[in-house]
Amino acid sequence: MKNIAVIGAGTMGNGIAHTFAQSGFKVNLIDINEASLERSIKTISKNLDRMVAKEKISEADKTETLANISTFTEIGNGVKNADLVVEAATENLDLKLKIFTELDEICSGETILATNTSSISITQIAAVTSKPERVIGMHFMNPVPIMQLVEIIRGYNTTDEITKSIMELSKTLNKTPVEVNDYPGFVANRILMPMLNESIETLYNGVAGVDEIDTVMKLGMAHPMGPLQLADFIGLDVCLSILNVMYNGFKNPKYAPCPLLVNMVNAGKLGVKSGEGFYDYSNSKKAEKVAKQFLK
Ligand code: NAD
Repeated sequence: MKNIAVIGAGTMGNGIAHTFAQSGFKVNLIDINEASLERSIKTISKNLDRMVAKEKISEADKTETLANISTFTEIGNGVKNADLVVEAATENLDLKLKIFTELDEICSGETILATNTSSISITQIAAVTSKPERVIGMHFMNPVPIMQLVEIIRGYNTTDEITKSIMELSKTLNKTPVEVNDYPGFVANRILMPMLNESIETLYNGVAGVDEIDTVMKLGMAHPMGPLQLADFIGLDVCLSILNVMYNGFKNPKYAPCPLLVNMVNAGKLGVKSGEGFYDYSNSKKAEKVAKQFLK
């Protein structure tokens, strides 16, 4: 595989494009929003600068990585020659079904179609294509250039051959792939989200305050970041939507989102990205401090 198309240039898309480009792949980064593409290239450039400053890569590596990325505002032009498409657009079922229907029409039968979805069924996405056996989940973690894990999710029809080739490809990105099956939340979020939800429930029940809950988990369990701060970092809307997928998928009340989480999302308190969640990020320095703590 040489040519990669990444659909969606948001938080995850820019990290995925960065990671492939730094490993020498040609990347077409596609977003319907021109501003997202511009922001994405700026972020990648800034993150590469940080790596140059830490002497992890050279100035020439940075130039080469940026030269490997081209941007597109239309899927059609961007995915034409792709060996692999990694979809990282907004977490919305109808949107993903629409994108995969389009990809099925445009891409050659040889293209592998991957999605970075956090929780939507790979099997359901694959079902709108004519080659569901070539559709797979490639769940990168945020921030992508730093985090080691890629959760590789086999849809019901995904073949051994496609799974193996995506596992091998992930290793060439210096990542550690882990193969899992397609059930709500996969593994990462099935375990993480109930913990975050329980932390919110603990706050909601008045057992302790935000700082106290996060301190217990940081100092007592050696977590690098408290669960409430992590929820802010992921995005409270993203947490809510993943919990809802698991709640609906398993029909089990243990995944029911805490009413406080629902209220905060309805009130537009989404965490770092909206400037306020469990913590206040209205001062952009504070948001950077959270990010730095996470990236340490
Ligand atoms: P985001 O909101 O930051 O970015 C989504 C991007 O998709 C936006 O730039 C938007 O303009 C673009 N987009 C929307 N419709 C599009 C279309 N039709 N064609 C092309 N681009 C389109 O979202 P994100 O946090 O980067 O999440 C992207 C995916 O990654 C989601 O499926 C999410 O569940 C998954 N994910 C997110 C995280 C996380 O921590 N944020 C972690 C792992 C996986």
